Amino acid sequence: MRPLCEGLFQLRYGDRRPLAGPGLQRHGISAAAAKDLVDGYASGISRTRQWFADAGWPDPPRGVEGYVPVYVLDPLDVVGVGADASGTIPRQKAGFRDASTILLRSSLDVIDRDRWRERAEVEAAHETAHVFLHGLLSPLAQNADAWKWFDEASATFVERAIFPGHPETLRFARQWIQQPELPISLWGCRETDEGYSSAWFVRHLVNLYGSAVLLDIWGKAPSYRRPWLAIEEALNSRGASLEDVLWTYYAYGDGLLDPAATALWGEKPLTWILTEKGETTEEAPIFPEGCRNYEIALPAGAMAEVSIAATRGILGEIRAEIFPIGTNTGMASRGRLIKDGDSKLKGVVCGGTRLMLVVGRPQPAQPRAFPPLGPTATLVKVAIT
Ligand SMILES: [Zn+2]
Repeated sequence: MRPLCEGLFQLRYGDRRPLAGPGLQRHGISAAAAKDLVDGYASGISRTRQWFADAGWPDPPRGVEGYVPVYVLDPLDVVGVGADASGTIPRQKAGFRDASTILLRSSLDVIDRDRWRERAEVEAAHETAHVFLHGLLSPLAQNADAWKWFDEASATFVERAIFPGHPETLRFARQWIQQPELPISLWGCRETDEGYSSAWFVRHLVNLYGSAVLLDIWGKAPSYRRPWLAIEEALNSRGASLEDVLWTYYAYGDGLLDPAATALWGEKPLTWILTEKGETTEEAPIFPEGCRNYEIALPAGAMAEVSIAATRGILGEIRAEIFPIGTNTGMASRGRLIKDGDSKLKGVVCGGTRLMLVVGRPQPAQPRAFPPLGPTATLVKVAIT
């Protein structure tokens, strides 16, 4: 195999059909793809290393040879069934493998060959980011499972921070746009993607407080059981609350946070449009850290009362406000629904089309926001009268 050094990383790759000697078979790179893959991987690694260095991160541990090894191969044989993606093998606490090891694919499942270099850069950036993150919290640590969603969210965020012009960095934005009702800390559930789509929450944090906030949160990882506790403390130390930051994440809108993602995957979904007095929606679950949008469209001049009733759970777990459509970006002229007894939130709307945003309050001390429909979901019905 040929080594190529990129600072503290060493990229090792070989040919599928060499001029002499043994071929690496499917672990080798085809001659046609060699330049795009090797150049793309090397560029992704060195750009990512620079990004972390600029943000003040410590170098991750090196292997015994003085490098973080990066192998180009077919991960299936190494990692096992179902592993057809690039990945990072965690560093061990003891033994010969004291550095994380990156595995990058010897061929990509991207149909457009013109995009191979871009995809290679993005995959290398993602895995290199994991190496820096794992330098602060090993995936073998006791609390690592609880941090997995934030690990994937952070690595996916870094891809797009470094290569904003590569459309490949939007592949996980689909779920972010289309399923805002799922909790941000989604992980360990079949329907979800283990946290990749929560990259846009990390983007929101960094937009608000700069890239230092990411290092601040990850620096707390060894001593915090769960990322939300570390995120909450990092926000509190900046004079902000987790609840308000979560609220602005949803209220400012996807289009402002990442216009390219909205252009590609469309606008955020509505749970229901209410157009007439007397209308009641079906029950919908609101998870902690999840969001639902209801549209209330009344004729001009009409007035109605909007109410949200919890059919399970408690209303203290949600926050709801009504915005005139198109102005929610400015957070102006909003109407917060007020508590009416133990089981109802109420507010008055005037004619026109308005958006009601319902957000599940974050619960940092809870282990996980899932399983779906578990005890953490509040079921709500919306009515206009
Ligand atoms: Zn990953």
